[in-house]
Amino acid sequence: MNAPNTPTANGALKAVCIYCGSSPGENIAYREAAALLGRTFAERGIRLIYGGGSVGLMGVAADACLAGGGEVIGVIPQLLVEKEVGHKHLTKMHVVENMHERKALMTDLADGFIALPGGYGTLDELFEALTWLQLGYHVKPVGILNVAGFFDHLLKFIDHARDERFLRPQHHASLSIDVDLTKLLEKMQAAEAPDTAKWLDGHKREMTV
Ligand code: AMP
Repeated sequence: MNAPNTPTANGALKAVCIYCGSSPGENIAYREAAALLGRTFAERGIRLIYGGGSVGLMGVAADACLAGGGEVIGVIPQLLVEKEVGHKHLTKMHVVENMHERKALMTDLADGFIALPGGYGTLDELFEALTWLQLGYHVKPVGILNVAGFFDHLLKFIDHARDERFLRPQHHASLSIDVDLTKLLEKMQAAEAPDTAKWLDGHKREMTV
């Protein structure tokens, strides 16, 4: 793990972990965005780290990256391999014991994280990456690719959490958001990690008032 409270990558994002649906979703724009992301990563030489599935948007992004000659690394728990949803043609597949190991390894292998449309699994992974950033367990940028406004309601809720003072403005601001992948990657590269020390001090102060 990197030292807390240093700026996030601010340089090349050489490996990016994506969180996205194991379903394709309704709107074709979701599949198009996942395919474009895969192709773009291949073109730019960004290694794609993901959950290792062959299904849904996960499979679309992985296939597009591989077809473009890119590198795709999967991290999948044994249970999902047994259910035969693992991708069979990745550059490399890490088979791990459980979901905790999977998340930890995905975090280690990536320089940043992007959520695309998805369900509980995607949201769980996105919020864990944000929570770990908030606490200083990693200092890597986290972004949302807001395809076709999929995340609009969630982003409003996050604003509400900030307005109601459950989320500090600096942590609210640590999430990069864009509808355009190139712009999102630029924002992530420029992102600064929140100051963990201040956050912890603030909490200690509040608890003693
Ligand atoms: P969901 O958004 O609920 O479809 O879950 C997708 C996220 O959870 C992905 O980013 C994966 O890491 C993980 N996941 C859920 N289902 C699968 C699956 N069938 N194969 C591999 N990973 C999965």
